[in-house]
Amino acid sequence: MPDANALHDRIASNADRDLNDLLNLLRIPSVSTDPSRTSAMRETVDYLSRDLQAAGFQTSVWETGGHPALFAERTIDASKPTVLVYGHYDVQPADPLELWDSDPFDPQIVDGRIVARGASDDKGQVYAHVKAVLALHEATGTLPCNVKFLIEGEEEIGSPNLGATVEAHGKDLQSDVVLISDGAMLPGPTPTLTYGLRGLAYLEVRVTTADRDLHSGAYGGAAPNPIQALAEMIAGLKDDQGRITVPAFYDHVRELGDDERTQLERVPFDADAFQNDAGLTATPGEPGYSVLERLWARPTLDVNGIGGGFQGEGSKTVIPNTAFAKISCRLVPDQDPAAIANALEAHLKRVAPHNANVEVLQHAHGRWALSPLDGDGMTAATQAIRAVDGVDPVYVRTGGSIPVVADFQRLLGSDVVLLDMGLESDRIHSPNETFDVALYHRGIRVSAEFFRAIGQGG
Ligand SMILES: [Zn+2]
Repeated sequence: MPDANALHDRIASNADRDLNDLLNLLRIPSVSTDPSRTSAMRETVDYLSRDLQAAGFQTSVWETGGHPALFAERTIDASKPTVLVYGHYDVQPADPLELWDSDPFDPQIVDGRIVARGASDDKGQVYAHVKAVLALHEATGTLPCNVKFLIEGEEEIGSPNLGATVEAHGKDLQSDVVLISDGAMLPGPTPTLTYGLRGLAYLEVRVTTADRDLHSGAYGGAAPNPIQALAEMIAGLKDDQGRITVPAFYDHVRELGDDERTQLERVPFDADAFQNDAGLTATPGEPGYSVLERLWARPTLDVNGIGGGFQGEGSKTVIPNTAFAKISCRLVPDQDPAAIANALEAHLKRVAPHNANVEVLQHAHGRWALSPLDGDGMTAATQAIRAVDGVDPVYVRTGGSIPVVADFQRLLGSDVVLLDMGLESDRIHSPNETFDVALYHRGIRVSAEFFRAIGQGG
C-alpha cells in the first residue's frame, strides 16, 4: 500500500515534467484518417511505450490491419484485481487550419489551457493514466493492483479493427474493471462518473406500390401512393402521447431503481436551458418521465430521414412508385437490439396499407451498457474522487452510444467506468481544442487514487 502523502508529493514534484511530456506527445500529428501520417502513428506508439516501460510495464504493439494498438501490462500479484485502461492515441484532423489561433501540433498554453489537437480527445486524458502509474511506480516501486493498457489508433475513424482485436486478445485483456477517460464532465467542473449508455437499432424501410412512376391524371384515384402509405406507417409508430406502439417494444425495458432516481435528482440539469440551447420549440416525449429520464433511461424511435417522389423545382404530376425512410431507436437495458429491430421490421410489414411492398434493411446494431453503481469499479472511482476533489461524484448516464464500451462488457465481462476528465468547452474535433492544465494534473491524482482503491478491494 503506497503512502498517500508520498504519492501525492511525487505527483506534485513531477508536475512540470508531466506537462512537458504531454506537450511533446501532442506535437506528434497522429491523425488516423490521413494516410500521410502513418509514421506519426508509430512514433506515438513508441512514445507511449517508453513511458509505460519506465513504469515497469511490458509493452507490445498489436498489428490490427490498420493502425497499430499499444498493449501494456504489469501484473504485480495475480490474486489482486486487474484494471484495463482503454484510450486512443489517434486524433481528428486539424482542418480547417485557418480557424486555429496557433499551430494545432505546436501546443500553446493560453489561460491555463493547453491548446492543441488531441489535448482533451484523447491524448491528455489517456496520458493522465500513464503518468499516474508512473508516479505510483516511482513512489513505491510497485503498483497497488494489476494494470493493463489498450491504447488504440483508430477511434476517430470508428475503431474498425477494435472488435476483432478485443476478440483475438480476449485472454490478454482479461480484467475486472475497464477504465476509460475520453469524455467531458459536467460543467463546474463537477466530478462526474458515467455508468450507462444507450444502445442503437437502425432500420431503413422502403415502400413500393408500382413498378414505375405513374401519371397522376391517368392513375390518380386508383393507384396507391407509397409516400402516403409510408407517412401513415410512420405516424402510427407512436400514439398521441408519444409512446411507441411497436408490439413488445417496451417489454424488457428496465425501470430506474430508487437508487438511480435519487442520483438522477443530484444531476444539475436545467430542462429550460436544454430547450433554449438547442432552439427547440418544445420537449415532447413519453408521459410520466422527466426530460432527463427520457434522454438517458428510456428508449426512443426517431425518423432520421425520409424521401420519395418529385423533389425538383416547379411541379410534376406524378404518383411515385416508391418511398423510403430511415429510422433509429436508442435502446436501454435490457432491450435486445436485434430483437427490437426484428419487431420493428415485422410491425412495419404488418401495418403497410394497400398491400404495399415493404422492404426493410437492418443496419448495424449497438448494445447499451450499464455498470452497477455499487460495483467495484464505480465504488473505487467514487473513493478516488472523494480523496482528490473532496466531494461525491455525480453519476450520469448518456443518451448516446459508445459501441466499444458494450463490447468490453460483453466480451470481457468487465465493469466499465467512464471517468471523464475533460470539459464540454474543450472544443474536441473543432479548431482550438483545449485541455485544462489543472484538470490534467487532477486527472493524474484521481487515476492514481483509483488504482489504490481497486488495490484495497474497492
Ligand atoms: Zn476520443
